[in-house]
Amino acid sequence: MHISTQAVQTGLEWDTRTGSVAVPIYQTATFRHPGLGQSTGYDYSRSGNPTRQTLEDGIARLDGGVRGFAYSSGMAAITNLLLLFKSGDHLIVTEDLYGGTCRLFDKIFTQYGLSFTYVDTSDSAAVQAAVTPATRALFVETLTNPLLKFADLGALSAICREHGLLLIADNTFLTPYLLRPFDLGADITVYSATKYLSGHNDTVAGLVVVKDPQLAEQVYFHQNSVGAVLGPQDSWLTIRGMKTLGVRLDRHQENALRIAGWLQTHPRIRKVFYPGLEEHPDHETMKQDARGFGAMIAFEVDTHALVEQVLLKTRLISFAESLGGVESLITFPEVQTHADIPAELRARLGINNVLLRLSVGIEDADDLIEDLRQALEAGSVGAHCMRPETVD
Ligand SMILES: *Cc1c(COP(=O)(O)O)cnc(C)c1O
Repeated sequence: MHISTQAVQTGLEWDTRTGSVAVPIYQTATFRHPGLGQSTGYDYSRSGNPTRQTLEDGIARLDGGVRGFAYSSGMAAITNLLLLFKSGDHLIVTEDLYGGTCRLFDKIFTQYGLSFTYVDTSDSAAVQAAVTPATRALFVETLTNPLLKFADLGALSAICREHGLLLIADNTFLTPYLLRPFDLGADITVYSATKYLSGHNDTVAGLVVVKDPQLAEQVYFHQNSVGAVLGPQDSWLTIRGMKTLGVRLDRHQENALRIAGWLQTHPRIRKVFYPGLEEHPDHETMKQDARGFGAMIAFEVDTHALVEQVLLKTRLISFAESLGGVESLITFPEVQTHADIPAELRARLGINNVLLRLSVGIEDADDLIEDLRQALEAGSVGAHCMRPETVD
């Protein structure tokens, strides 16, 4: 069955008693026992809740894994995964990592004896070279942030198999609609469902899927022990968002490709990072492995002054952190999303003071282009006549 169909069908068969098409929000902390030593399958909502489980089953199905887990945020999901390791263990990690993940690893988990080596995971040779006898896992972002590098999971999973490492894929930017990491050899997927999976900039949520039943038991033990679970209401919102994953992503991508192409032609844009562009170094690999290129674009403007101008002058596109929702958002990674990455690493990665990151929404592409144009050209000589009619 196509993944769009599976997404729409999430939870449909759940309520056999009433036939409710939408899964009910089981807003309850606890469940009555039918008898001594008996359970309905639900005892207490930290351990399991039907609405949350519908989401967990749904994401497991989309990813092709054995079991899904829903957490109160993407960070809570990643934190839970790190509990699979113990003091002395070493992990190899994507270098242009989401800032919050980098902070969690470097500022918190190093205190518990884990160590991390940051490498360019789009370069399999660099990953191979970083493996030590203490290495237990490779944590990759399938498409990185903000510079949109794509990891060759097939090559990486071969390295992981050779050295007995777990391959953990943060697939937030692509979602199972565009990339199914298990098909390429990953062991665990993790999502900030705050982004494309819920898709409406209205929920904070995290998801994990595992492929191996034994590993699933371990992850469940940690989920229940730590308790950073997603509440029924937010589980329901995430399910609702997930149902339209296919149509949203189709539109997101269509818009992104047009905008990236247009940005390339603008005289005040120095560089555009979008894997859908043929000159992007990972374009070909991504074309083979993924069903699309996503809808995140990074671009460099020609002066730092223009950064502030664009952030202040865009009208349709909101200056806000986060991504993956129907509303277009723009941010300045150096200060906003990647401030927790050490400055020298930021400089090496090219996260500089002229780089902007755009999460392309599902508005009309012409309106978005017009908004960017007026923001880029506002205040320049003749700007008045070049300005578009007010966008409505
Ligand atoms: C946002 C994000 C996270 C963190 O998720 P939250 O839901 O904000 O806790 C992790 N990884 C990536 C790639 C992200 O974009």
